[in-house]
Amino acid sequence: MLATSIVGSLPKPSWLAKPEILWAPWATDDAARLAEAKRDAVRLAIADQEEAGIDIVTDGEQSRVHFVHGMLEKIDGIDFNKKTRIGIRNDRYEADCPTVTGPIRRPAPIHRDEVVYARARTARRLKVTMPGPMTIVDTLADEHYRDRPALAMAFAEIINAEAHELEAAGADYIQLDEPAFNVYLDAVPTWGIRALNRAVDGLRAKTIVHICYGYGIEANLRWKQTLGDVWDQYRMTFPALADSAIDQVSLEFAGGRVPLDVIASLGGRKDVLVGAIDVTTKTVESPEDVAGTLRAALKHTTPDRIFPCTNCGMVPMARGVAQAKMRALALGAALVRAEL
Ligand code: ZN
Repeated sequence: MLATSIVGSLPKPSWLAKPEILWAPWATDDAARLAEAKRDAVRLAIADQEEAGIDIVTDGEQSRVHFVHGMLEKIDGIDFNKKTRIGIRNDRYEADCPTVTGPIRRPAPIHRDEVVYARARTARRLKVTMPGPMTIVDTLADEHYRDRPALAMAFAEIINAEAHELEAAGADYIQLDEPAFNVYLDAVPTWGIRALNRAVDGLRAKTIVHICYGYGIEANLRWKQTLGDVWDQYRMTFPALADSAIDQVSLEFAGGRVPLDVIASLGGRKDVLVGAIDVTTKTVESPEDVAGTLRAALKHTTPDRIFPCTNCGMVPMARGVAQAKMRALALGAALVRAEL
């Protein structure tokens, strides 16, 4: 009961990538040294989670430059040399995005070796994350399909083929990150959910969709200030999610203005990864803070549905802060577990 996990990413050691920024460049251009550094960082990421008391671990996304682009690098039909500056997340901020220039295709497994490596290094349950179709489409320039639903479905098929291989390699949980679900609210019940369902079709691993309000970067903080006193975006997409094929929904509840009663809009049909750690602040929550968020969530669903988690990935943080926050998460969950 109340098994803890992080959303996915952890800060990278400075010998792997430039610390405390998003899209951090690798510390070396040498392919062999980089591969070794990534593997070493994965060992640390797993050990750090285990030491903190996290029950379901990830590889900390140590092998990817960015949670979306890390996967896309290995897909044909995307030109990484043709970067186009576009407004993403409905023009919330600009990013230099690779360009779709032809039909997309996955010529070989993308994350399989990473999962095999991580699987061999922990006895705990293992979660693997990938970007979801809508968020991928929103983080690319497209000169070929010129049709967002069609491009999303093409990616959903690629994700599904990849996910089946990751499941076979030992992933117990497969999570698709869809921050775009909190932005394009009208498109979620139509092509957003359709693509998501296609992406998880036939999987036996537990499937998760992660929907959040983003990292603590300047553009996101400004955006949050425009969302008013109550952040009710989840309420608009949850009825569609309640009917989806996804098993679990990973949500942001700590430090923001999301009312916890939105959980009821899932109709009791989904597990909820309750974000009880704010990733936009260096202030480390106390175990009692975490427990408070979990107790509030328990008013709206049953304990077997609750999985304590972070609000979002922790990649841009200082390593010591991320470690302390993971520890607080595990201790806070233990407090509430003892009350059940
Ligand atoms: Zn997130």
